[in-house]
Amino acid sequence: MTDLIAKKRDGHDLSTDEINYMIRAYTRGEIEDYQMSAMCMAILFRGMYDRETLDLTMAMMHSGDLIDLSAIEGVKADKHSTGGVGDKTSLILCPMVAACGVKIAKMSGRGLGHTGGTLDKLESFPGFNISIGEERFIDNVRRIGISLIGQTADIVPADKKLYALRDVTGTVPSIPLIVSSIMSKKLASGADVIVLDVKCGSGAFMKTEHQARELAQGLTRIGKLAGKKCAAVITDMDQPLGHAVGNALEVKEAISVLKGETKGDLLELCLSLGGLILTESGIVPNDERAREMLQETITSGAALKKLAEMVEAQDGEARDVYDTSRLPLAPVRIEVPSRTAGYLSHIECDEVGMISMHLGGGRETKDSEIDLSVGLILHKKVGDHVEIGESLGTIHARDEKTAEEAAALLRACCTFSDEPVERPAFIKAVIR
Ligand code: URA
Repeated sequence: MTDLIAKKRDGHDLSTDEINYMIRAYTRGEIEDYQMSAMCMAILFRGMYDRETLDLTMAMMHSGDLIDLSAIEGVKADKHSTGGVGDKTSLILCPMVAACGVKIAKMSGRGLGHTGGTLDKLESFPGFNISIGEERFIDNVRRIGISLIGQTADIVPADKKLYALRDVTGTVPSIPLIVSSIMSKKLASGADVIVLDVKCGSGAFMKTEHQARELAQGLTRIGKLAGKKCAAVITDMDQPLGHAVGNALEVKEAISVLKGETKGDLLELCLSLGGLILTESGIVPNDERAREMLQETITSGAALKKLAEMVEAQDGEARDVYDTSRLPLAPVRIEVPSRTAGYLSHIECDEVGMISMHLGGGRETKDSEIDLSVGLILHKKVGDHVEIGESLGTIHARDEKTAEEAAALLRACCTFSDEPVERPAFIKAVIR
């Protein structure tokens, strides 16, 4: 390992055997953390060729269990988002795509910090079971075309160990390390088509469009080299996605998109990602036909029905999809009247995520309990005009005190301009 660290430090590439050795030995505890952190720092500064990144990805993928989806007929698709505030895309996209005939066998995660997780959101449906076991998971996908669950097997243990190390050694922001971390998990999950939503902006992991583009290109290149159909979109995360932030509130917003009642950035993103899945799957010949087909799943109610089928197949009740009155609802709801007039020019996106955490909707540590009912609904987005007294948003809280604190925080997140402000482009690029 000492030789390998020196080799990478001096800018040389590591061979396939060297990378395999390093990951195998590190996962088994035969390489110390201090050596691995020196290696991560050398990779961060020196980078990796695609061949090395692919080798690293495959070595990490093989460090644990692989999900076998071969018993499911047809094309299987998966989606990954680099995480953002108000990101409820999977709840809309997956039923839409499944209603078009592409199979969704997806393992999702819980939220940590200010970004929410799909599993927490799904648990807003009374009785919803995210731990149905691999057999029921596969059977549900075969029968109804869709299942979203928590991780069953020990997928990519090398990444769990390596990510924890990178997190405390300043080595998270390295493109080859991020690409291998994300793609090893996606490849281990077994889908044929992988689409990626790479966020950029103040609420995202990648702050600039340049960084996001570099990551999206790296992810899609490695996905393709690994033999998958792979494409990405780069989307704006300078303001929350859609209007709702908070678990049950986001589920209700997702349902309103599936009912055709809410349009805007959220629907646009689902049409783009869904379009990539349908075209990459070969189900449709072009983007135009894909968008028509996806729109039709909303108009006909097929996507909403697909969500209801999934909820029922995972121990929830279909009626909760059509009527959300049984979903968690916070006892205190207050409006946040604006004290300033003007055009909303900036929303501190990270901070909006922190408000939801402050209300009790986000996890500070892996084991924190969260309140599914709390959060906020933004009524204004960048470019909108606001009058004094007009509501910037509705806070959903457990008590008056945290509601008032959250209201003050929301006001502090908003910046206004006297001049009209252009609405930022939401989809910044599509990378095929
Ligand atoms: N998300 C991951 O899963 N891995 C990284 O390295 C960074 C973000």
